[in-house]
Amino acid sequence: SCVMAKSKFEYVRCFETDDTCLRNCYIVVRLDGRNFHKFAEQHNFMKPNDDRALGLMARSARSVMEDLEDIAIAYGQSDEFSFVFKRSTNWFKRRGSKLMTHVASQFSSSYVFYWKEYFGEQPLIYPPGFDGRVVLYPTNRNLKDYLSWRQADCHINNLYNTAFWTLVHKGGLSTTQAEERLNGTLSADKNEMLFSEFNMNYNNESPLHRKGTTLIWEKVDETSTKRITLPKEGEKEVTFTRSRRKVTAHNCDIIGDLFWEEHPDILE
Ligand code: ATP
Ligand code: ATP
Ligand code: MG
Ligand code: MG
Ligand code: MG
Ligand code: MG
Repeated sequence: SCVMAKSKFEYVRCFETDDTCLRNCYIVVRLDGRNFHKFAEQHNFMKPNDDRALGLMARSARSVMEDLEDIAIAYGQSDEFSFVFKRSTNWFKRRGSKLMTHVASQFSSSYVFYWKEYFGEQPLIYPPGFDGRVVLYPTNRNLKDYLSWRQADCHINNLYNTAFWTLVHKGGLSTTQAEERLNGTLSADKNEMLFSEFNMNYNNESPLHRKGTTLIWEKVDETSTKRITLPKEGEKEVTFTRSRRKVTAHNCDIIGDLFWEEHPDILE
């Protein structure tokens, strides 16, 4: 390209840097909402978990998986979503900036596009943004540990937030008092406090909040009926079953082996 110049200006292309992602590695793009602490406040998100916001995040992530190439699995919680491209992807010649910006812009435009489906009459009062980063993982173990890290983060934050907002909403504490009360407590202490003082078993809280959302591709049998007209038999109703690849959402544990044993085709 630097040699076959159409104009004398074209040499400037040579200033572009090569950001090809190393072959064979999983390419992970993680997005995170910009200043969502404020965004959540300004859009009256429920505390500790707003299900409309989580639904919209998952819907936007599904649009990313359906509209871009070669994403095998995505995992999201709070205002973040991670997208894992197949090891073998050659989409945009594995150029990191192309993959990351396509993910970020498809996600952001979908977040705005589908807003009304989740928030109804509650208006979107300013355009949200998401930052992105690219990380490469060479082994299946590294990739599983990456996803485990994000799910462990979801668990730790959700346990804290559940304890915090229970103290505020049900315990009548101020936010400052709740913070002081939880200062220095371990997971076991928070579980115990929820159980003994509020009769809540943390393990019975919503899996969506405790585990986050995992999106994968699955073969789903879809049955549909059609009326057809046959020469001898006349009009007749027939049933078709066809198998289609579909993005499915799961709010399950992805740290243990079970999920990976049940879905052996996600990793290569
Ligand atoms: P940064 O721009 O550095 O990411 P941030 O304000 O987005 O800053 P995060 O650490 O990403 O900080 O935290 C996201 C915040 O968004 C959470 O702490 C929470 O207040 C809010 N939030 C995101 N999703 C939800 C939700 N579904 N329900 C309630 N609050 C949410
Ligand atoms: P890629 O995804 O590789 O960028 P592309 O189809 O977007 O593919 P570009 O080289 O970016 O290819 O070209 C953008 C095309 O969009 C133009 O060739 C033109 O057909 C169309 N286009 C963009 N802006 C306008 C406009 N204002 N008026 C008419 N056509 C436009
Ligand atoms: Mg952040
Ligand atoms: Mg954020
Ligand atoms: Mg975040
Ligand atoms: Mg273009």
